[in-house]
Amino acid sequence: MAMNAPTSQPRPWDHHTRAEGLPRGASPAPAGGSAARAVFLDKDGTLVHDVPYNVDPDCIDLIAGVGESLRSLQDAGFLLFVVSNQPGVALGRFPVSALGAVEARLDELLAPFGVMITAYCWCPHPPAGMRGAVACTCRKPRPGLLLDAAATHGIALERSWMVGDILDDIEAGTRAGCRTVLVDRGNETRWRAGRLRTPNAIVYQFADAAAMILDGSRDVASERPRAAPA
Ligand SMILES: [Mg+2]
Ligand SMILES: [Zn+2]
Repeated sequence: MAMNAPTSQPRPWDHHTRAEGLPRGASPAPAGGSAARAVFLDKDGTLVHDVPYNVDPDCIDLIAGVGESLRSLQDAGFLLFVVSNQPGVALGRFPVSALGAVEARLDELLAPFGVMITAYCWCPHPPAGMRGAVACTCRKPRPGLLLDAAATHGIALERSWMVGDILDDIEAGTRAGCRTVLVDRGNETRWRAGRLRTPNAIVYQFADAAAMILDGSRDVASERPRAAPA
């Protein structure tokens, strides 16, 4: 991920995001402008129960209803991306390699539902205020994870959605040009408002976020790219 300011030396958390590799199911932007739709998903407190700084696969469990709901989004043609701040890397709580086990565990949990995550997009950078921290472009509420995934996979952001449990997720989605749904599980503690932090919808269950997206996308669901004029 690009950093905002040049740094004199590489930092241990640089150059290790999965987005820079070859994500499974990588689908370059199709020719003819038929861009895909996506749902960008926060992980902690949205897909799985929030255990701060956890990378132990045994402590990762889906929130009820998430698997079925992701399947319904996938069936409707949405590509699914996990977009997650993982400052534990920069804070030295775990090595960036530990995120591979997290991805494997999530894949394992979602497999029974037939759900495939197109790419896991991690921001391993430190939060602002950490000594020596350099602002990155990908830590939510910044939109870098979404923008990078969209560029890599040919996603039409204006036809895509961000789902998260705090307003930083909403702001990242709004900044990327997506519509947004807040799953309010009581995890937001600072209700700092503002245009960028106002979701299109607030729900209390992930299933309702999925229903909202499916309903709200109906207007564009039947859109087909026009054939190029002969
Ligand atoms: Mg969260
Ligand atoms: Zn970052």
